[in-house]
Amino acid sequence: MEKSPVLIVGAGISGIACAQALRSAGRPVRVVDRGRVPGGRMASRSVGGRPVDIGAAYFTAKPGTPFAAVVDDWVERGLARPWTDTVAVANDSGITGSTTGPMRYAAAKGLRSLVEDLAQGIDVEQGITLEHVSPGEALGESCSTVVLAMPDPQARRLLDASSPLREKLDHGSGWAPSIAVGLEFSTRSWKRFHTAFVNEHPVLTSLADDGDRRGDGRPVLVAQTTAPFAQEHLDEPDGAIEPVSTAVRRLLSLPDAPVNSFAHRWTFARPESQHSEPFLLVDGLGVCGDAWGERSSVSTAWASGDALGRAIAQS
Ligand SMILES: Cc1cc2nc3c(=O)[nH]c(=O)nc-3n(C[C@H](O)[C@H](O)[C@H](O)COP(=O)(O)OP(=O)(O)OC[C@H]3O[C@@H](n4cnc5c(N)ncnc54)[C@H](O)[C@@H]3O)c2cc1C
Repeated sequence: MEKSPVLIVGAGISGIACAQALRSAGRPVRVVDRGRVPGGRMASRSVGGRPVDIGAAYFTAKPGTPFAAVVDDWVERGLARPWTDTVAVANDSGITGSTTGPMRYAAAKGLRSLVEDLAQGIDVEQGITLEHVSPGEALGESCSTVVLAMPDPQARRLLDASSPLREKLDHGSGWAPSIAVGLEFSTRSWKRFHTAFVNEHPVLTSLADDGDRRGDGRPVLVAQTTAPFAQEHLDEPDGAIEPVSTAVRRLLSLPDAPVNSFAHRWTFARPESQHSEPFLLVDGLGVCGDAWGERSSVSTAWASGDALGRAIAQS
């Protein structure tokens, strides 16, 4: 008799990786997500008919890991491309140098398109918000396991006060917010860089050249903000546009104001500390995501979801 399906809540990269691992093992899965499209924090927004990455700026993959094989396949099929291994370093007075590190990958159609690609063959139901789950039951239906593939504070909210999992999950104070601000200019008037870490700045933490990342050269920048600055603007993210625009123009010495701009709120952008385990699986409830592993990142989220899917398949 076929087992009842595993219900995965969250169609970010960890939820989809978990679903693929289960599917490969022949286990039935159902994925639901409250958003309109899959991708979670690997999000893009359409501006002037082209995608702009507003969550993760890029991803890395340690050579020889299972995630690197996934990335190689994306690159071979032209879905992802090696972007740069060089990141500019900036502070309030401008770009002061650069640092090299692992290859950063980008996607011509936005990082979200990669999650969509990974989700092929999986039935993902969008626009479904869960309020509550319990072992073996969600959405009024029975399931063999319920997986919460999302930030700890979002997962915590869905669990009974008596659930043993709750105390292992952060309630929110350990997650940093960010406001993403997209700025479109009429021309490219800055000295070339790919992406920048901004240090000791009251407003900015990073800046990415989206035209460079996308490969089409469009004069679009995306800035991410410090957690204290984001905290002040979580209720009204549009209020962040003007101060962020001013900070970016000052940092890059841009003469003109942007012709188009937008803001996006990330209440739980990144965990400030990591769990030592790769996932949690207790009594028919599982939790995975970017907080479960070495360092919050796309590759950690994928590895966490994949490991949880394999563990459920073996159980
Ligand atoms: C601003 C920002 C910049 C970043 N930059 C980078 C970077 O440059 N490089 C990098 O590697 N990583 C970066 N990251 C981190 C990276 O985006 C994440 O590690 C990764 O995308 C997390 O995937 P996930 O599947 O664990 O969670 P998510 O992508 O958050 O997926 C969770 C999903 O659960 C859904 N959900 C939540 N609650 C419910 C509910 N009650 N009912 C139904 N659905 C629900 C959400 O809609 C969402 O789709 C960045 C993140 C942010 C926000």
